Amino acid sequence: MYTIGIDVGGTNLKAGLVNEAYEIVATSKMPLTWQSQEKLAEDLAFLAEDVIAQKGIGKEEVASVGIGFPGAVDRRRGSVIHTVNIPIREMPVAQMLQKWWDVPVFLGNDADCAALGEFYHYGSGDIESFILVTLGTGIGTGIIIHGHIWSGHNGCGGEGGHMVIVHDGDLCTCGRRGCWERYASASALIRQTRAAMETNRESAMWSMTGNNLECVSGRTAFQAMDAGDAAAKAVVDQYIRYLSDGLVNLINLLQPDVVCLGGGVSHEREENLLLPVRSRVREISYDRLMGVPSTTIITAKLGNDAGIIGAALLGR
Ligand SMILES: [Zn+2]
Repeated sequence: MYTIGIDVGGTNLKAGLVNEAYEIVATSKMPLTWQSQEKLAEDLAFLAEDVIAQKGIGKEEVASVGIGFPGAVDRRRGSVIHTVNIPIREMPVAQMLQKWWDVPVFLGNDADCAALGEFYHYGSGDIESFILVTLGTGIGTGIIIHGHIWSGHNGCGGEGGHMVIVHDGDLCTCGRRGCWERYASASALIRQTRAAMETNRESAMWSMTGNNLECVSGRTAFQAMDAGDAAAKAVVDQYIRYLSDGLVNLINLLQPDVVCLGGGVSHEREENLLLPVRSRVREISYDRLMGVPSTTIITAKLGNDAGIIGAALLGR
């Protein structure tokens, strides 16, 4: 049997047909052009039918359809409560899709789906708690406990990016000051890199970006550090500390088997990111005092496919 996973992103709808080995065997995508909830349901149904047509299988070979949304969902009712970036409010997705196709439909939050995908890929047989931390524009955290997504009593749980790590720090989009994502997201790293360039006119980061602050990326500080630039190294060292502080907050609270880092920053060379983060976390996390096994910190392997595979796994 197959399952279908659909990832509702800010700009695209992406669907995949997933086999029992959790591999994507057919894909389909279309741009998200917002008109109405009815049109969205129609597009989701089209994508689901498109991936099975591509593989040349019948609907009876599909056990379920899972869909990840950027927002809060009510999994029991199969409804989306509220999304960010697109104006979905109280949309009974499962019921609407089943007008086209009478198949079990499961909903999840997109960060949670990505976590589920990476969790299964890592080897869910051996572990039961897993947190995916995605470093992007913000910080998304998907929490798996006892093999199940933890999304809170209202579908809004797992927002680790909005825990405060700097009291009275920078203002966050959520209205609080000093949230983790203001200091350790990819966007935060870019802001920190630009600020270091402004105060270090001699830094190699200037020549690397063609003397253009607009060309600064999440890689700039790492690349300049590799070339021996001291200002860049200071940016990276501080970033590792911000990132590790939030990770240790999560680890001290939940002591999960695994914390997995995802998003563009996580592709950085192991020596530059993963190893220093592991070492800093080990230095400050509570479990070191107890002499017990520590949380394993890894980087994501599925990348952009995690959302589709995780959505497809919602029904399993
Ligand atoms: Zn916040």
